[in-house]
Amino acid sequence: MLFRSFKNSILFKCLVLLVLTITVLMGGVTAWFIHSQRTSLMGTWFQTNRDIAKNASYTMKQEMDLFDRQLYLLGKTSSISSLDPIEASGFLKSYDVSPLFMNGEYIRLYGRNNELICDNSMIKAAAHNSVPQSFDDFNRVTQVRTYLSPWFWEDGETPKKIFAVQVGSRATANGALVASFSMRRIWSKIVQKAEDPQFLIVADNEGKLLMHPNPVLASEGKLTVMDLGLPAPKSLNENFSDFVKLSDGKEYLTAFAKNSTYQLNVYSLQLRDDAEKAIFTTVSTIFILLVIVLLVTIFMVSFLFLRFTTPLRKIISYINYISEGNFDAEPFPDDKRKDEIGILASSFNRMLRLIQKQMKQLNDHKKHLEEQVLKRTKELEAAKNQLDIISRTDELTGLPNRRDLREKIQQEAHRAVRMRRDFCFIFIDIDKFKRINDTYGHNCGDVVLKSVANTIRNLLRKYDFVARWGGEEFLVMLPETALEGATIVAERFRKTVEALEINYSDLRIPVTITVGVALYDPRLGVDRSIQLADQALYKGKENGRNQVVVWNPKDTTEEDYKAAELDLQREALNEEKLH
Ligand code: GH3
Ligand code: MG
Ligand code: MG
Repeated sequence: MLFRSFKNSILFKCLVLLVLTITVLMGGVTAWFIHSQRTSLMGTWFQTNRDIAKNASYTMKQEMDLFDRQLYLLGKTSSISSLDPIEASGFLKSYDVSPLFMNGEYIRLYGRNNELICDNSMIKAAAHNSVPQSFDDFNRVTQVRTYLSPWFWEDGETPKKIFAVQVGSRATANGALVASFSMRRIWSKIVQKAEDPQFLIVADNEGKLLMHPNPVLASEGKLTVMDLGLPAPKSLNENFSDFVKLSDGKEYLTAFAKNSTYQLNVYSLQLRDDAEKAIFTTVSTIFILLVIVLLVTIFMVSFLFLRFTTPLRKIISYINYISEGNFDAEPFPDDKRKDEIGILASSFNRMLRLIQKQMKQLNDHKKHLEEQVLKRTKELEAAKNQLDIISRTDELTGLPNRRDLREKIQQEAHRAVRMRRDFCFIFIDIDKFKRINDTYGHNCGDVVLKSVANTIRNLLRKYDFVARWGGEEFLVMLPETALEGATIVAERFRKTVEALEINYSDLRIPVTITVGVALYDPRLGVDRSIQLADQALYKGKENGRNQVVVWNPKDTTEEDYKAAELDLQREALNEEKLH
């Protein structure tokens, strides 16, 4: 859900694009940087290794030059050039000279006939009456330059080299001062250990090891650099620098330097893995930095995204809430912010306040209208009720009219059938009313009508009904009343009216009524039952008026029933047509 909404967010897309761009750019820059760093490190590394080889070669040369110089100067001293055994021997063993030589190094003075005059060793002097094995050519010892022997090995010791100079004046001297130079001198200057990642190997021109971090390897003069896997010194020039795989299976960056005078061939070696490790450390540091920068960017971008979208989402859901019809909501709370979100929130709140104001006006207006409608409806209802009453009431007598009574009769007819109860009609007609009108005036007739109507109404029980049926005719309905009871009521009407004292214009107006009574006959229906009462009344009129005539149900003929049946059929037909 959250992701789906993020997917549609343009802001989210922009930020993702930004992160991707930064990643690609930084990746490219880093790749380029790493490449250039690596190249430069490699270059530095090659150069350093070459410098080490050259420096070592130079240091060695310096040391050997110094030795040469020492020997030359010793040869020039009078004690040596005199070739006097006692003087020379004393001199060589003196505290001035003996410390110039290391343990194992010797210096010897030979006479004109190559005989040993003296040396720096008191004990071994007698034994060395011949020249050393490797020193066999006195003829090559000249005054021009120091004679240098090839490197040689003695009894498994460090390699040595013979230096020899001529002593004595040109006229007298043919002696020679011969000294051995030990590789240990150089060794002590170039301190190195076997476990150093960078180390030196020195060989003579044949490739025999002169110096190796493991001194044992260089102590016999048998092992060569070729045995170690290195190229022979003769096959290399000064600027050689390359990766060489040695017999130990490891690859080394190898630089080469040589000194022809002293037959020194220096190999500077460095384990490739170590160098690569250094490069790897640099590269991984850069990489880690890149990852950190990326993480920080992603974090910042996410932070910004959330900081922007969270309130935006709140505003959106708030707007949705309001658009569902909740216009009475409180204002959006986050409008203290000064940025776009804050502006959006306060703009929306302003709009909401306006809506709320207009809604209130609208509601007030609506309420007012509703009140008006309610008032008018009540008034109309009252008017309608009034009209209803009026439409159902006879204006002159105040009695219900014919329409009103008919409805009540219909109800009673249904009830009577249902409850199997009798009810009766009493039909009343004022006798000779026309004559009253004619004699006393129409107004008098109205007074009589009202008086009779009141009289009848006052004689009725609570559940009885009366209506003005026509001009001076009244119909009374007596629910739950048998013919006998109705007859009594009718007689009471007649008597009371007869006894009425109706005065008009100081005249007593005598009034009588003729009354017809009939029982409701369900087989005949309402109208024909009323007609029976009317027929009874008619009989009373014929018989002289002012009397009650009761219709005997036995007098109802089959024709009456048939006619009633025909009425019902006709009614049914009419109903059908209507529908
Ligand atoms: P009978 O004894 O046979 O009933 O004679 P009658 O004169 O009463 O009968 P008729 O039907 O001939 O006369 C009824 C008269 O009642 C006729 C009419 O003018 C009068 N009338 C009808 N309605 C009113 C009314 O509201 N006010 C007055 N004053 N007279 C009315
Ligand atoms: Mg009449
Ligand atoms: Mg009449």
